Amino acid sequence: MKEVSSGSYPRFSDLQSLLHQNKTSCLDRVRHHLSVIKSKSHLNVFLSVYEKDALKKAEEVDQKIKDGKAGKLAGLVVGLKDVFSYKDHPLQASSRILDGFIAQYNATIVQRLIDEDAIIIGRQNCDEFAMGSSNENSAFGPTLNAVDETRVPGGSSGASAVAVLTDMCQVSIGSDTGGSVRQPAAFCGVLGLKPTYSRVSRYGLIAYGSSFDCVGIFGRSTEDLALVLEVIAGKDEFDSTVSSKEVPEYTSLLSQTSGDKKYRIAYLNESIQSDAIQSDIKTTLSSVISDLTQAGHEVEGIDFPLMEYALPAYYILATAEASSNLSRFDGVRYGYRSDNTHDLASLYRKSRAEGFGQEVKRRILLGTFVLSASYYDAYYNQAQKVRRMIKEQTKKLFNSFDFLIMPTAPTTAFKLGEHSEDPVEMYLADLFSVHANVAGVPAMSVPLGNDPDGLPIGLQVVANDFEEASLFQFSKLLMNLRG
Ligand code: GLN
Repeated sequence: MKEVSSGSYPRFSDLQSLLHQNKTSCLDRVRHHLSVIKSKSHLNVFLSVYEKDALKKAEEVDQKIKDGKAGKLAGLVVGLKDVFSYKDHPLQASSRILDGFIAQYNATIVQRLIDEDAIIIGRQNCDEFAMGSSNENSAFGPTLNAVDETRVPGGSSGASAVAVLTDMCQVSIGSDTGGSVRQPAAFCGVLGLKPTYSRVSRYGLIAYGSSFDCVGIFGRSTEDLALVLEVIAGKDEFDSTVSSKEVPEYTSLLSQTSGDKKYRIAYLNESIQSDAIQSDIKTTLSSVISDLTQAGHEVEGIDFPLMEYALPAYYILATAEASSNLSRFDGVRYGYRSDNTHDLASLYRKSRAEGFGQEVKRRILLGTFVLSASYYDAYYNQAQKVRRMIKEQTKKLFNSFDFLIMPTAPTTAFKLGEHSEDPVEMYLADLFSVHANVAGVPAMSVPLGNDPDGLPIGLQVVANDFEEASLFQFSKLLMNLRG
């Protein structure tokens, strides 16, 4: 077991005051992160490191700080999952089919980060097209979990979690369609936020399941997440699916938290009882429940029988959407093209057969199947109905409770290769995380303990639509409560 403790690295808010007092510089910060990236390159976290760009930007931002003209994120070093468009930089969703593709514009989130003087340090490995729960489906090979290098970091944004855990960057931006930010955050012992569906623009994010896809954030403190969300959230003329609801000042709301507010919290009875959940995780959850009760919060066990249908509904709908979204990768418009073709149909067929990995092909086939005329009603329509019911029941729950808590994942980080043979076993790793995407509500994974092997345990807090501010407040309270 390696000695890695994300808790020992500074919060950005602390660094910011050091930067402004001239006790450190952006250049120092970037050099530091670059040296960590180099010394831990065997973990396979970064697919590209923008060393020159980052050093140059650091110098510029240092000057801006001196001139008193620096943006809100001056000195924040950010890593991007390989699904965000960053102009003139490679972009390929860890897939061979996008070999050689260079982004032609900035994703909205990238532009907003840059406008506030964040420094982008590189592009991070992930499961191909964000499909997976272990980071093993990448065309570039798996990323290793720095807590135990024989284990997966979770997925699909596994590398983004490891980067934050090991201080290769201050925060990472990932995408969360069914848990891809929260589950790796849990496996690596960092914080991971999936905001409300529609809170953050997806312009420039490679689409997987468009009715689920959310931009998410990894960090080591609630303050860092709140600050980044404040910058990237909010309406966008390039993405009509973004809510025009005003973006609250999450950071000041968080700093005003009194600490004596009492909450009403529900937990799933099943998550304490089920045999499918690792016993250490159940024990941690039980002790969190008793800590909360002792601190004067109302905590109540509830049954949510529809929960077990969230996973099948998600895998039907997400694959259906993926089969449509991925039809644009045809060997003509982007990246990889097979040489070995004699007409247009064989160019499409061969480029896709050679360019996509096995899991992506499985998802496209599944998605095409559930959308086919004979099965559309039995699968796709049925899953839509189930989704509606889950959404309604979740909303109803929030009439009586402020938060729903449950494990982020049923187990701690599993061994590399442990679930590679059986896709259904791998999908079960998403048992608790898909629910928030199916319902569209915000959720966050908070690191709250370790199992006897030292592997991190994440607790998931789910809140009502657009309640990110309370999610930050409550997550902070939980972390304080648990020391
Ligand atoms: N593991 C889930 C899947 O494979 C979620 C992935 C994600 O959130 N991008 O679909």
